[in-house]
Amino acid sequence: MKEETQLDFITNYLKELRDEDLYNEIRVLESGQGAWVMIDGEKKLNLCSNNYLGFAKDEALIQAAKKATDDYGVGPGAVRTIAGTMSIHLELEKALAAFKKREATVVLQSGFNANLAVIPLLVGPDDIIYSDALNHASIIDGCRLSRAKIKVFPHLDMEALEDLLVSDSDFSGRQLIISDGVFSMDGDLGNLPEIADLAEKYGCMTLVDDAHGEGVLGRHGSGIVDHFDLHGRIDVEVGTLSKAFGCVGGFVAGSQSLIDYLKQRGRPFLFSSSLTPAEAAANLAAVRQLTEADDRVNQLWSNAQYFQSGLKELGFDIGLTETPITPVMIGDAGVSAAFSRRLFEEDVFAQSLGFPTVPQGKARIRVMISAAHSRDDLDFALEVFSRIGRELDVIQ
Ligand SMILES: *Cc1c(COP(=O)(O)O)cnc(C)c1O
Repeated sequence: MKEETQLDFITNYLKELRDEDLYNEIRVLESGQGAWVMIDGEKKLNLCSNNYLGFAKDEALIQAAKKATDDYGVGPGAVRTIAGTMSIHLELEKALAAFKKREATVVLQSGFNANLAVIPLLVGPDDIIYSDALNHASIIDGCRLSRAKIKVFPHLDMEALEDLLVSDSDFSGRQLIISDGVFSMDGDLGNLPEIADLAEKYGCMTLVDDAHGEGVLGRHGSGIVDHFDLHGRIDVEVGTLSKAFGCVGGFVAGSQSLIDYLKQRGRPFLFSSSLTPAEAAANLAAVRQLTEADDRVNQLWSNAQYFQSGLKELGFDIGLTETPITPVMIGDAGVSAAFSRRLFEEDVFAQSLGFPTVPQGKARIRVMISAAHSRDDLDFALEVFSRIGRELDVIQ
């Protein structure tokens, strides 16, 4: 029997999504994350994951997680301030601080939570945030939670940002400029050098969320601040452990006093339990490997360059990317969705992104390159892209 409830608006909303072909059918992996994954019992080349460095199934990380589980068990037992901080959490934070060349870090359950934890500590109802129009949802939510006034500047438009700062030049509250490091839909970079200059000129704090830059940009993958050589000029760095680090978690890096403050007042730190010992240990193993060697980072960039120049030679438009994120611009959302379906039939798993994730008329296949891909994998993908590109009239 069908229930009539106060929640019928949800059923109606879902029906609308399905009618408009906007309902997202989530694929189920029957394997771990790697260059290839099992879906519906078939092997598919994986061009969707943020497992940039192949750490998600790395043997050293798996062994570290197993050992930590043996040593500490499976759960942290409480929020960190009460009884949930274990020595493995502190070891991870210390190693991360050294890796990021910052005084201190604090690890949270996710990058999303890291933004929710730190932004409301920096600004409140009497303050102003300047935020890039394409900033990540977790930044937007962190800004909203702070109850500060939010002024959005057009994507990467430093003149518009400066105009806002000029018009607020006699504002007496705190001011915070926030940007993604790498923008995940196009793979372009925030203009951090200019943001640092403007922040210094107008007396603002700065926060960069480097989720797609951790493990990817800078020496040994230490991030966008290192990439632009801005050490000491960006106040707060937010990072994730859920992408290149191959595991899950997030962190805030900055001065010792910022981190001490977050441990006293950051709500997702105070009121939500921490990473499991296994996660902390796996992340620590990833940080140690990256600190010692940059071969995975180099492999990632060489794979990205190989694949991106291959696509360009075939005549594809890959937009403005400056990173291993590779948007294959299609334009029409229907063609892009059909492209993704055809790729899947040919054993290539790459998602189509359409409105409202990207602007109308700018639908694309987003390819995520990983150090885990072999040259054979990339050649296979290029061959399939070439065939389907011609079939669907995307290339000649
Ligand atoms: C992916 C992403 C996050 C979320 O990270 P999780 O650790 O998965 O919560 C936050 N910010 C940006 C910019 C991201 O790209």
